[in-house]
Amino acid sequence: MTFNELGLSAPILKAIAKQGYSEPSPIQAKAIPAVLAGHDVMAAAQTGTGKTAGFTLPILELLAKGRRAPANQARTLILTPTRELAAQVGASVALYGAHLNLKSTVVFGGVKINPQMQKLRRGVDILVATPGRLMDLHSQNAVKFDHLEVLVLDEADRMLDMGFINDIKRIIGLLPKRRQNLMFSATFSEDIRKLAKGLVRNPIEISVSPRNAAAPSVEQWACPVDKKRKPALLTKLIKDGGWSRALVFSKTKHGANKLTKYLEAEGITATAIHGNKSQGARTKALADFKGNKIQILVATDIAARGLDIEQLPHVVNFDLPNESEHYVHRIGRTGRAGASGQAISLVSADEVDLLSDIERLTQKILERREVEGFEPDKSLPETTLHQPKRSKKKRKALNSVTNEQNNARHNNNSRNTKKRAVYGHGPKPGGKLKYGGRNPNQQTRSTL
Ligand code: AMP
Repeated sequence: MTFNELGLSAPILKAIAKQGYSEPSPIQAKAIPAVLAGHDVMAAAQTGTGKTAGFTLPILELLAKGRRAPANQARTLILTPTRELAAQVGASVALYGAHLNLKSTVVFGGVKINPQMQKLRRGVDILVATPGRLMDLHSQNAVKFDHLEVLVLDEADRMLDMGFINDIKRIIGLLPKRRQNLMFSATFSEDIRKLAKGLVRNPIEISVSPRNAAAPSVEQWACPVDKKRKPALLTKLIKDGGWSRALVFSKTKHGANKLTKYLEAEGITATAIHGNKSQGARTKALADFKGNKIQILVATDIAARGLDIEQLPHVVNFDLPNESEHYVHRIGRTGRAGASGQAISLVSADEVDLLSDIERLTQKILERREVEGFEPDKSLPETTLHQPKRSKKKRKALNSVTNEQNNARHNNNSRNTKKRAVYGHGPKPGGKLKYGGRNPNQQTRSTL
């Protein structure tokens, strides 16, 4: 299939050609005709599948045919969970709409509101927004939705994870009843389905990757290691592997800062990106990483959400996420658009339950590879796909530990252990990677 066959007009095809896309990705092949036909759409698609163009291209096509937006009105609203994703989607809209006479703008918090109000004054055809800032702008009459034609909820699962459900409901309540709704989510939990029920009407359902599975081009493996030796192991992997770029996930903001300092002390250029950093610092960190000025970007889940960084060969889970769905999002940063990638999880014995949750979700036992010199003293227990599910209660307790609580707890600890080095530097003397552990395929077969 070609883009020409999808019913897109010349100015859009020209913009696509400039991007060098030879053919539509599977989500685009399905979503574009559905959106053009005016249907509501509910799509299960991970980042990296080309979903942004999947909704942006047909929306541009539809908007180009209609009347321009009056003052302070928005014809399309694209809601995203994070500022970074909003900026990225906004950039895609500008790119794909370069040859059309349509106006778009991006609004999110953490930056001045006045310039955003000014841009909205003359009306916009496409408004990309994070929920909080959008509510602020609406309460100040800077944006109105009487002429809204299309609503897009991008990364809806993350919106719920981040506690935006009430904001979303309030925003939906402000919109005209007659509109087209498009909902994209990497995973479709019961909560998402509940939200969808009140949002989309007779939607075309699209799923381009198996539910909760990772892109097949991503090689995933786990590295058993003692917790305190993770920084040294990461350093070894980076140095021995000659990694030029990697995205590393930390569970907490404090952990991200601490690891960045450690890596810098080891002569590796690194920056942290998380919610405690100013928007300016976040934008700069991302630009430096994309511009190859830094090797390692250490990120928390929220800050990294939706980051589209081309040709990212390595993603490392320095800590496993509390929510197994986040694992799928994290590793979606590599292996994009068919490129190959490696997703490596450094797993300490205390994380075995989290590992098991991930394996059950993805229906795949992660291959384990120990690194010589870093074999754990506390061995990582075996896991199977039939591990009994942890009780809701226990999960809740785990999840309710916020970053702030973690940080506070950590700070208390550090006060008690004054002057202790952040991490012990340097690996135990040791050599090459040892691909030990069990054969994951065998394990999978025997336990399925
Ligand atoms: P997304 O899933 O929207 O975050 O897109 C992931 C990446 O795929 C972006 O860098 C896009 O530029 C790229 N992309 C989108 N559509 C195509 C396509 N049809 N062919 C090749 N690359 C694409």
